Amino acid sequence: MQIGVPKEIKNHEYRVALTPTGARELVGQGHTVTVQAGAGEGAGFSDGDFEAAGAQIEGDIDALWQGAELILKVKEPQPEEVARLTPQHTLFTYLHLAAEEALTRGLMESGATCIAYETITDAQGGLPLLAPMSTVAGRMAVQAGAHSLEKAQGGSGVLLPGVPGVSPGKITVIGGGVVGENAARMALGLGAEVTILDRSLARLGVLDDRYQGRIKTVYSTADALDHAVRESDMIIGAVLIPGAAAPKLITRAMLADMKPGSVLVDVAIDQGGCFETSRPTTHAEPTYMVDGIVHYCVANMPGGVARTSTLGLTNATLPFVLALANQGWQQALRDDRHFLPGLNVHAGKITYPAVAKAFGLEC
Ligand code: NAD
Repeated sequence: MQIGVPKEIKNHEYRVALTPTGARELVGQGHTVTVQAGAGEGAGFSDGDFEAAGAQIEGDIDALWQGAELILKVKEPQPEEVARLTPQHTLFTYLHLAAEEALTRGLMESGATCIAYETITDAQGGLPLLAPMSTVAGRMAVQAGAHSLEKAQGGSGVLLPGVPGVSPGKITVIGGGVVGENAARMALGLGAEVTILDRSLARLGVLDDRYQGRIKTVYSTADALDHAVRESDMIIGAVLIPGAAAPKLITRAMLADMKPGSVLVDVAIDQGGCFETSRPTTHAEPTYMVDGIVHYCVANMPGGVARTSTLGLTNATLPFVLALANQGWQQALRDDRHFLPGLNVHAGKITYPAVAKAFGLEC
């Protein structure tokens, strides 16, 4: 199969959809991989690395799209990429269509077959192509929050591990899923005092078992949130209600109860944020102050660590890419009931019920 890997063009997106390691696997199984010149640079892969893996480098973006049957990307196609899609293409990437009506209609009009990373499932009921990026964001949240606690960043000047004779900082993580657990692990590793709040007792049970009391688990209620606000040096928002906007769990009025210079890291900002005062920020200007509290609300945290994110993402996508290339999309989806929900658009129709419902379209 002819596989094309364009350079990502979304603002500040440095990841690439395939590594030289992945290219080598595909070429070894008889496929042709064409990578746009410079596509891997942001993630630390040179054109030479791809060539050494057997891929071809193409400087002409029109030629790359026109010659490809399978297009591998990271972010949803931008308008100029949608315009390049035709019925000959199978597109495999993050799409997040339910919030993007213009993109959805553009993909329908293109006639292409569009498979989304984020709607592929696994046998445990998880989302295996979303989890690696949640892992990155959770681990990064503590790193970003620790930096934000420094005085020069507007923070309270607390060092999370403390020093001998001085207590460590206190971190509360709201939502103990993939992001939350990874944030808590990092915080624990730094020597902070860590509490996780969640609404799922089953999930709190798993965490309690796994960390054997080293992380406090608390059922999430208004009382628990009031307590967290008063006590914490850093609060990490990591809740998710699938298919819905994040609930606003900390209101502006509650900021008055926080210690000045405390830090709010809202990882759930890509779902609207779980703090009333959150608004999306970028890696260029990641924080802002509201009522003396530092807010970190970067909507694409994994983009800031493009090297690790690319490696983590492509480890998870590669088996699906190989199945698409070896079997063709029809057979690959037919053979794997967890791959099938990845299909979002085909031949002008929406094939994923939640997306169709969001825009009142036929499925
Ligand atoms: P997840 O489903 O694994 O975990 C979410 C957890 O939140 C669940 O355990 C759930 O029980 C809990 N929860 C739901 N409502 C709650 C409430 N009211 N109080 C306390 N807990 C509650 O989801 P995840 O993969 O960990 O993702 C968390 C959030 O991070 C999502 O919004 C996701 O989109 C976002 N995210 C953001 C970035 C970024 O770059 N900003 C990157 C990756 C993920």
